[in-house]
Amino acid sequence: MYRTNRLHFAAALLAATIAFCNLAAGIQITSYFSPRNRERPRRPHTWYIILHTTEGSKKGSLNKVRKNGECHYFVDTGGSIYRIIDRQRTAYHAGRSMWNGKTNIDNYSIGIEVVGYHDKPMTSSQYGSLKALIAELQRIYKLADDHVIPHSMVAYAAPNRWHRSSHRGRKRCGMFFADRTVRLKLGLTSQPMYDPDVRARRLAVGDSYLADVLFGSARISSGISSGTVASGGNVIARGRSAWDIAGGKYKSPGTLYTFPDGSKRRGNQISDWTAIPAGTVVTLYGQKPPSVEPAASPAGSNGRSATELAGDAANAKTTIYFLPDGKIRRGDEIGAGNVAKLPTDTKVLLGYIYGGRITSHRSAFDICGDAWNSRTTVYRLTDGTMLKGDAINENSIPKNTHVFFKSN
Ligand SMILES: [Zn+2]
Repeated sequence: MYRTNRLHFAAALLAATIAFCNLAAGIQITSYFSPRNRERPRRPHTWYIILHTTEGSKKGSLNKVRKNGECHYFVDTGGSIYRIIDRQRTAYHAGRSMWNGKTNIDNYSIGIEVVGYHDKPMTSSQYGSLKALIAELQRIYKLADDHVIPHSMVAYAAPNRWHRSSHRGRKRCGMFFADRTVRLKLGLTSQPMYDPDVRARRLAVGDSYLADVLFGSARISSGISSGTVASGGNVIARGRSAWDIAGGKYKSPGTLYTFPDGSKRRGNQISDWTAIPAGTVVTLYGQKPPSVEPAASPAGSNGRSATELAGDAANAKTTIYFLPDGKIRRGDEIGAGNVAKLPTDTKVLLGYIYGGRITSHRSAFDICGDAWNSRTTVYRLTDGTMLKGDAINENSIPKNTHVFFKSN
């Protein structure tokens, strides 16, 4: 008896946790409620749908957002939709956020997490499910297309050592949802044309690349080809000229212009600069690599050993040694007495966090956020070249480049 009851109880609990439900539009959603769901307050307003990318694989992301109640819906790469927080309650998904002067966008929005990355295309199954889910939520809450926006559009950061004022660009979450081509595939025909909080000077631009991606393609009257998701910054648009993109190299033979009709011309082959249509993609070739400065003090070159350079910090986690054979070691990975034995041409970085390697799923921005282009951030390329953050082109950082950023 006791056993049967317990089984019944377990079965009921399971049914409550994993229940299939069809909305009016016929979308299948699996309820996978967060344990936080019942304690969440009802949301006072619903003005926006905020789109996120998980920046990680399904399993870990689903567990995390469910545990913390971080979204209302979750769309995996197969197109399955999970319900995490009741849509009438508040999910904590937008963090420090502002849009059109309103802050704490969690109180005004539904959050949808899409498994994937801010700069990678969605699967066709995701397009299908997300489009249906968005349309249904727009119908319920009477939301215009330009109220369906990426998280990166509303997230902002407090002042920090790189920006003296509050600024947009805290994260690039979901940024491809601002691409016009992506939006059209989701059935969304309008979108914000500019950042209202930047325009009103409530926020500064903290990530100009992101700003171009978010608002660049919106300003192009003609459609742009797919594949420009991550290159909004290189597309000519109203208010964005060849000069803005290529600078002094605009008429160089090394600068390639790909017109919307697919034809190509080099900078030196163009004479009428007023006739370049919006949607033209500008590609810069043959850029001289930025000057290489030794970011780390070369021990030995001035007769100083690694021990002398690192001093008391010789075995600190934030002391990084670059060995002549290419190996990289943190101070805490080297035995106390071993620093003195390091070869004389070992280089030393003091006060840095070893951020690890850049991979196809882990950008410099993922590793150190706003600091990616700071002159104090150090990149070590696979060929041993060391570059500072302000000398690196984010779109051409090779995979496996190691990133080091200031620890304070
Ligand atoms: Zn997000």
